[in-house]
Amino acid sequence: MRTHLLRQPSHYLFVLPAVLVALGLWAATPAAEAGSSVHRLLPMVLACLGVGLALIYNRVRALCLMLAIALAFALLHGVVGTFLRDGVVSAQTPLIFHAVSWWLPLLFLLHGLWPERGRLRQDLLLRGVVSGTALGIFLLLATQVPDGMQALLSDRHLAWLPSDWNALAQLPALLFLITTVALAVQAWRRPRPLHTALLIALLCLWWLLPRVFVSPALLPAVSCMALLLIVSAMLQEAFHMAFRDELTGLPGRRAFNEYLQRVGATYTIAMVDVDHFKRFNDTHGHDAGDDVLKLVAARLAEVGGGGRAFRYGGEEFALVFLDRPAPACVAAVEEVRATIEGVRMHLRDRAARSRDDAVGQLQRGRGGNGAVVQVTVSIGVADSRVADSPQAVIKAADQALYAAKDAGRNCVRALGQQGTVPVRATALAQGNASR
Ligand code: GH3
Ligand code: MG
Ligand code: MG
Repeated sequence: MRTHLLRQPSHYLFVLPAVLVALGLWAATPAAEAGSSVHRLLPMVLACLGVGLALIYNRVRALCLMLAIALAFALLHGVVGTFLRDGVVSAQTPLIFHAVSWWLPLLFLLHGLWPERGRLRQDLLLRGVVSGTALGIFLLLATQVPDGMQALLSDRHLAWLPSDWNALAQLPALLFLITTVALAVQAWRRPRPLHTALLIALLCLWWLLPRVFVSPALLPAVSCMALLLIVSAMLQEAFHMAFRDELTGLPGRRAFNEYLQRVGATYTIAMVDVDHFKRFNDTHGHDAGDDVLKLVAARLAEVGGGGRAFRYGGEEFALVFLDRPAPACVAAVEEVRATIEGVRMHLRDRAARSRDDAVGQLQRGRGGNGAVVQVTVSIGVADSRVADSPQAVIKAADQALYAAKDAGRNCVRALGQQGTVPVRATALAQGNASR
């Protein structure tokens, strides 16, 4: 079974640049200078970069939340700057601070959970109108009755709730808590870098707020971190979209081509093709066919001998073994072929499957009423000794694959100097020798 994305360390790669920039910035910012215009500049530049990327990648939620962080930063930086310059806080400072502590989690809740629509402009307009109207009403009330508004945001309204569990006022603290739980549930149920980034960014901002006046250098550092978390999560997702195959989770054709550009003098390529897959699709349906591709991909991903699996396209996969000639790889290739042959797949009875996704997921793996099927693959192997370029080695491996199909399928053929040869006997001999 594949591990949940949140349990895979590679899912958190986007955190690294954000933490490094935040630490560097914090270490290089003397507290007294945190309010200077230079330190205002960096988060704003990052926000502009992020908004540009969000527009390119169609990420409206990220765009709105980066604007919210930039706005919160600008407001806080203004009051912190005055405090650092004059040594006193202005009359509006408490209201501004409480308003930021209230609006940040609220906007994260609104935009973080509001699903994106297909049309970028409509989506942006709708979000702009909703948050703009709410902010406008708030601003109107705040200018008309500032004391009342401040009391609303900062007073303790729920006497039964302990007040000392968080440094923020009761309502903003509660909002942060609710938003954290909601974003955590979203990150768990629909794992992707952006969802995790929103959650971590919110926690960073929650941690920052009570410390803004005590450690002003944290303000630009943590704001940059929150913005960079979102920017790098967007980039990580874009990278995945370009290089990963969505159905199987394996690296795709682009990644395969890129990988081949970096091979050394010795390497082996195995081309893998599912046997009679068209017939399988026609008999059991395209969805069942997709499940087969996932199953085959999962087994190929576990190939031994240091091989790396790619989805080449359709029902074809490729295995690449670096620094190994074909004879050193055939045992692993034959083993993966035999593993796939040995798998019995219980087809889900799609007609009987519950329409309710949660119930459907529970039914998964219980066999259901569907048929039990078996699939096989044919594999062609060639190495760098038979041709000069990776493209030519792929062709040679393809030739061996045709030979495997001609030989009756469900077997491995290797292309060597003497033409294509069956490798089952060789592989078994090698396997026995190594035991
Ligand atoms: P052979 O044993 O000679 O390889 O026969 P085959 O039927 O596997 O080969 P053929 O090239 O005739 O058919 C490949 C089929 O793979 C046709 C296409 O519908 C199916 N296919 C390609 N990509 C996908 C996919 O992503 N999902 C599903 N379900 N089917 C796919
Ligand atoms: Mg094919
Ligand atoms: Mg096929």
